[in-house]
Amino acid sequence: MPMPDFAAMLREASLRVTRPRLAVLTAVHEHPHADTDTVIGHVRADLGAVSHQAVYDVLRALTDAGIVRRIQPAGATARYESRVGDNHHHVVCRSCGTIADVDCAVGHSPCLTASDDHGFVVEEAEVVYWGTCPACAAARTTTA
Ligand SMILES: [Zn+2]
Ligand SMILES: [Zn+2]
Repeated sequence: MPMPDFAAMLREASLRVTRPRLAVLTAVHEHPHADTDTVIGHVRADLGAVSHQAVYDVLRALTDAGIVRRIQPAGATARYESRVGDNHHHVVCRSCGTIADVDCAVGHSPCLTASDDHGFVVEEAEVVYWGTCPACAAARTTTA
């Protein structure tokens, strides 16, 4: 995956270019769907001592600016990814929590047409596919 120009993305979003912001963006880009602790681990490996709160604040600023997308499947901790704006969905393993990207079924939001929209202007359908990942399925058949 080519590394995007994170500094340009920050400037475009009117955010100051700082080393913690660049480190967080790099970590999220290289580790899609990482949770906060994983992001902190990578940022610390990159920059040295950085507080939990500092990374948390950066993640929130980047999410608010739309540079990073935050997802939170039911029962899971928040995860972050740099793939934004394409309305893609996620498939989540019920056993181990592994998350993979699933392209939007129709290519634009809302992906699903509500059978009855109750007069609402529907902008988005949040779709999470739940199931068992190949590794967990294989482990299950070998131990059964
Ligand atoms: Zn699994
Ligand atoms: Zn994703």
